Amino acid sequence: MSDHCIFCAIASGRAPARFIYIDDNACAFLDINPLRTGHTLVVPRRHVRDLADQGAAEALAEVGLALQHTARLLRARLDADGISVLQANGAAAGQTVFHLHFHLLPRPAGDRQLTDWTEDRQARKTLDETHQALTS
Ligand code: AMP
Ligand code: ZN
Repeated sequence: MSDHCIFCAIASGRAPARFIYIDDNACAFLDINPLRTGHTLVVPRRHVRDLADQGAAEALAEVGLALQHTARLLRARLDADGISVLQANGAAAGQTVFHLHFHLLPRPAGDRQLTDWTEDRQARKTLDETHQALTS
């Protein structure tokens, strides 16, 4: 665990998040700047910076169940026709939080291309409703 890492703080309960899945090794919570309704971050509890960091192989093994469960939940509860998984390693690749994580983006059939990274305002406004739909 790293003292100054927001995802370590969330995973350990020291900072709030809209959790949709938790297990001993990983958790999943809604992104506060969603690119799509249901945009979820899947995060291993183990603090590793990115895929090239020491311990990344262990973290990848530990996050597998959370990735599968989250993908199933988004498909079932939000009627997602597909799920895109995005993941950045290093600032040059767009990483802004340096704790390994996966973005899961629910995609309706015919969804617009994922070329711009501006948040979806409607998805942001309805974060609490989306959270309710995924956890009730
Ligand atoms: P990346 O650019 O791949 O490092 O993604 C980091 C993501 O974390 C961004 O999409 C942020 O919106 C998201 N984020 C940062 N802080 C929080 C937080 N406290 N709760 C939920 N999502 C967050
Ligand atoms: Zn961390």
